[in-house]
Amino acid sequence: MTPPVGLVVVSHSAALAAAAVELAREMAPGELPIEVAAGVADGGLGTDAVAIAGAIGAADTGSGVVVLMDLGSAVLSAELALELLDDPDARDRVLLCPAPLVEGLVVAAVAASGGADRAEVAAEAAGALDGKLAQLAADEPAAPLTVAPEPEPEAPPAPAEQSEIVESFTVALPHGLHARPAARLVALVRELDGSGVRLRNATTGSPWAPATSLARVTTIGALRGHRVEVAASGERAQVVVDAVLDLAARGFDETAAPGAATPEPAPRLPASRPVPAVESPRPGGPLPASPGIAIGPKRADVPAPVVVPDEPGGDPATEQGRLEAAIATVAGEIRDGRDTAARELGPAEAAIFDAHLLLLDDPDVVDEARAAVAAGASASQAWSDATARAAAEFDALPDPYLAARAADVRAVAQQVLRTLVGVPDALDDPGDGPPPVLVAADLTPARAAALDPARVAGVVLAGGSPTAHSAILLRARGVPAVLGAGPAILDVKDGTLLALDGAAGELLVDPEPDTVAAFRDRAAAQAERELEARERSSAPAVTRDGVDVLVGANVGSPADATAAAAAGADLVGLVRTEFLFLDRAAAPDVDEQEAAYRGVATALGGKRITLRTLDVGGDKPLPYLPLPAEANAFLGLRGIRLATAFPELLADQLLAMVRVAHDTPVSVMFPMVATVDELLAARRVLDEAIAREGRGTPPELQVGIMVEVPAAALKAAAFVPHVDFFSIGTNDLTQYTLAAERGNPAVATVADPLDPGVLRLVDAVCRAAGEQVLVAVCGEAAADPLAAQLLIGLGVRELSVAAPAVAGVKQVVREVELAGAVGRAAAALTASGPAEVRG
Ligand code: PEP
Ligand code: MG
Repeated sequence: MTPPVGLVVVSHSAALAAAAVELAREMAPGELPIEVAAGVADGGLGTDAVAIAGAIGAADTGSGVVVLMDLGSAVLSAELALELLDDPDARDRVLLCPAPLVEGLVVAAVAASGGADRAEVAAEAAGALDGKLAQLAADEPAAPLTVAPEPEPEAPPAPAEQSEIVESFTVALPHGLHARPAARLVALVRELDGSGVRLRNATTGSPWAPATSLARVTTIGALRGHRVEVAASGERAQVVVDAVLDLAARGFDETAAPGAATPEPAPRLPASRPVPAVESPRPGGPLPASPGIAIGPKRADVPAPVVVPDEPGGDPATEQGRLEAAIATVAGEIRDGRDTAARELGPAEAAIFDAHLLLLDDPDVVDEARAAVAAGASASQAWSDATARAAAEFDALPDPYLAARAADVRAVAQQVLRTLVGVPDALDDPGDGPPPVLVAADLTPARAAALDPARVAGVVLAGGSPTAHSAILLRARGVPAVLGAGPAILDVKDGTLLALDGAAGELLVDPEPDTVAAFRDRAAAQAERELEARERSSAPAVTRDGVDVLVGANVGSPADATAAAAAGADLVGLVRTEFLFLDRAAAPDVDEQEAAYRGVATALGGKRITLRTLDVGGDKPLPYLPLPAEANAFLGLRGIRLATAFPELLADQLLAMVRVAHDTPVSVMFPMVATVDELLAARRVLDEAIAREGRGTPPELQVGIMVEVPAAALKAAAFVPHVDFFSIGTNDLTQYTLAAERGNPAVATVADPLDPGVLRLVDAVCRAAGEQVLVAVCGEAAADPLAAQLLIGLGVRELSVAAPAVAGVKQVVREVELAGAVGRAAAALTASGPAEVRG
């Protein structure tokens, strides 16, 4: 007999889950597998993805598992738990059910114990409120008896309807068009009797929503910087549209909210106004994100939705073939993006592409489309309908995380439709003129990975952050970019000439011909420098006055190591060993680690490699490490703290490093060190590893720490007796010094490594290090030409950067005259802010 479907109860409260299970077992006695993942390790309220993954495993009898969740983050944790499941078959057997927890569990238990299959159990649970609704609605026969998604808004009228007015505004509210401003908008439209007025998020390409429905308006997901289109027809159309635009320009009258930040009016950018270059602080000004100069016509990176031709399908077999071929083509494109992300960013980031691939393989969607084709629909119509239905189902869910999955479905759906219908998107269509400068509110890593520098001159983002993954990918792909340009840039007309300098953070809109000529000269000079840099990439980098500066590469995968060697790196200044540990069910053993580290060493042909011990933690959980949920992961059990909490993990890693160090120069580096005791504890584990290997201390072994915590920088002298080198991680040091989380676009302008506060910490480390201890910088700042000169002036003698930046940084070093750099660095320390430093 087939075993029953398993049930998992995910709740913030262990007591609630236990009571619900008790109730369900009362209704469905017997051997039903019901597992609970509720509360967090310390007994508090919360949910834990690792525990949920464990519960799913325990409940899975092979017949599948239905997961019922309570509110908010329970859904998010359950989603994450699915990603933690190693076995794709096991993952496919799990169904996250949006049913109410208690009622859903009771009916699901009854259905499962009665032998229902997974889909039936979930369907039963989803309809669990019917009984209650029927009872409460007994006196009102007109009330609905089932909870059905809201009907789709009416389709927009065909373009032929001439009286339709469509205008737009850019959302300037810091928290986007959230409930309160949306309510004001809806009230206004209702007041003006604008029953046919509709809104859509033009930035994300959301569906149209009736402007009279608060529930629908909030679903367009209009965030700060997004452009919202307002459409109306009829006699009063202009009046209503004007009133809505006025309300938007007044910041939706949000000033009244106590404690709320003063809303910015929706900005308008005069076509010829230069967006200012860097200032301090830079309110809305552009930030340097990826070096290089780009000049080209603006093109909004908002692909127009594909219009599915209204025609009957051809021969079903032919249409079926077209559908399968389009899906396969898009799957190939997504795999390419994943490979790029895996190479440039690491396996965790590559996982987002897997989510898109899964959608292409989702039987719920693909089988529906196939069935429609078999019934005579065209491939594009069938695919469009099936994916629209799937996206609408996500849309109907209140959880914002799941709503975001709807955008994923639409993005993949459009990609397949473009292939079927033959419509290129903004990236594929080279157009007639010169390559465009793409402008967007923000860019997903997937989009950034897909950019072809031959077809796109540059990128300007209204938001974004220089340390976000999309920015790292833009740098890796050599696409010049500035970001944080402010929402006004989105309103600039397509085709307007833009000129940007991605190293200086300069952006000009519709510049004068003289300015364009000056930019072109600058670009030509840069191209010449790049050529020379490439020719001299493997020569040492020595300043004009004869000071050697090592230029190393940062490596996050075996492929990076090959790239580092080819780029002429003097050494590998940072191996992010996380690549070996993420995305798997168990930690790699000593032999596997040894082989991987040897692979890096072999690629570098005997040059020094700096192996950083595992730097993960609350923000990047590992399925095999039971970590408590942390309210603030960046201040929690990360880096060396995590390693000392799991000494066996550290011991194995250090043993593998010691083995390699007997054959090649190895530096062992500990991340996120804050106290001397942490370092001493880690060094003891290293000594034990050396003893375990039994061959004495490897002669060229060096030991150092990453300086990423301000406290470590300020007391660097205390570490000096115990280290051979310091490597300053400016990415983390900047976020901790300025209390500005890396990757958070809202504080990207604050998180500037050239802030004098950060530079003073670098100075403190260099002064404490003296002649004995080498000071390196391996954060992103090392690749910024201006920062590199200042760092050398402060005393840094090793810069470790992404492989593509190695040649350029060597060239920067060759142009430095140390005496001048020392003077400029000293002046930078007393500057008031990063703008003055750059000035
Ligand atoms: C840093 O923090 O600067 C650094 C190089 O480490 P990671 O970016 O890996 O945190
Ligand atoms: Mg770091």
